Amino acid sequence: MVTIVGGGISGTVLAGALAAGGHSAILYERQPAARGGQFLVLDDRAHRALAELGVSVNELHSVSHALTGLRVAHSADRVRDNPREGYRLYFRIDLMRVLSEFASATAAQLHYDTAITSVDPATGALRTGAVEIPCDGPIVGADGPDSIVRQCVDPDRRPEYAGQVVIYGTTSRPVRLDSAPHVLHFQGQRGDDAIPDSTFGHFWNDDVSVWFTRLTIPPLPIEDLGVRPVDLWAEQIRRAAPSIGELVETMVTATDSVHVINARNVPLAAARPPSERIVLCGDADHAITPAAGVGARDAIEDARAIVQAITSGASLSKAVSARRSEILAERDRVERAYQRVR
Ligand SMILES: Cc1cc2nc3c(=O)[nH]c(=O)nc-3n(C[C@H](O)[C@H](O)[C@H](O)COP(=O)(O)OP(=O)(O)OC[C@H]3O[C@@H](n4cnc5c(N)ncnc54)[C@H](O)[C@@H]3O)c2cc1C
Repeated sequence: MVTIVGGGISGTVLAGALAAGGHSAILYERQPAARGGQFLVLDDRAHRALAELGVSVNELHSVSHALTGLRVAHSADRVRDNPREGYRLYFRIDLMRVLSEFASATAAQLHYDTAITSVDPATGALRTGAVEIPCDGPIVGADGPDSIVRQCVDPDRRPEYAGQVVIYGTTSRPVRLDSAPHVLHFQGQRGDDAIPDSTFGHFWNDDVSVWFTRLTIPPLPIEDLGVRPVDLWAEQIRRAAPSIGELVETMVTATDSVHVINARNVPLAAARPPSERIVLCGDADHAITPAAGVGARDAIEDARAIVQAITSGASLSKAVSARRSEILAERDRVERAYQRVR
């Protein structure tokens, strides 16, 4: 029996794929089954991995919006168009609904509203409050950046502020704009630092219009995070992209509330080696700022590697170590490419 802590993107698909392949899987998720959040983009690799894990591509397409490319502008004369295939934008609640339906249709045991409060690294016993949950097989911590499983097996690795506050908005009705539809637009204002001082991003089509602002400012206290009235942030959002003021104004005035987060990373380079009994998956092991746009893809590819190891009887710890090496090498490549274009 594989025990999975955390029923977000990777934990849910992992439980479903294992059970669909004839392996017993039990999942504990602290939140209710239906839950939302902001929007996110999954790339071609994420979709390939989901399809290989058995998630219906038709279902995924039916709840998401096709993206034809990324357009990055730092000034009127510095615009880069990056056409993309296989990228799609999702509202998190819709993506989670498809993944939860996939897992629910298998024999996976899904326990919602059940927060795991501790993991004994020696015995692998889990606790939810005073109740002990015995586990006789591998445990996968897929419980996000504040992972309780990581706190028990690798307590020195804590989430770190990634330097930006991110504000997400969805207009209350679709708006039409002068910019190209179906494209994810980024309008950045450079400072002296490696990351832009501010970025305004947006996407629109006939059905939805969404936007975000990234501000390079100190982290916000917890009470300022989460869903907030848009008026609280309107001035800072307008200042983030003055060169497209009209577009920003259209988006902001059509939005009631925003979702505010501190972007965070979980440092991976100094991770303790995984054991055969307890491994980490996705953000629990290597959360990366949403600005990278790959956290969910990495989490889904982790789930695929774990499924492959378990179904083939290969070493779980080796599979997770290999994933870590791949992720670190890829981040290094991306960082070097970013330095070249700067
Ligand atoms: C605002 C925002 C925008 C993003 N945009 C993108 C994007 O465009 N593209 C992209 O690829 N990535 C994006 N990401 C990153 C992406 O969302 C994450 O990398 C992805 O969700 C990681 O999946 P996961 O399964 O590891 O963790 P999660 O999906 O976070 O799931 C973790 C789950 O564990 C549960 N949990 C936590 N603690 C416990 C406990 N003690 N007991 C039981 N359950 C527990 C949580 O409730 C949660 O459901 C974004 C992130 C944010 C915050």
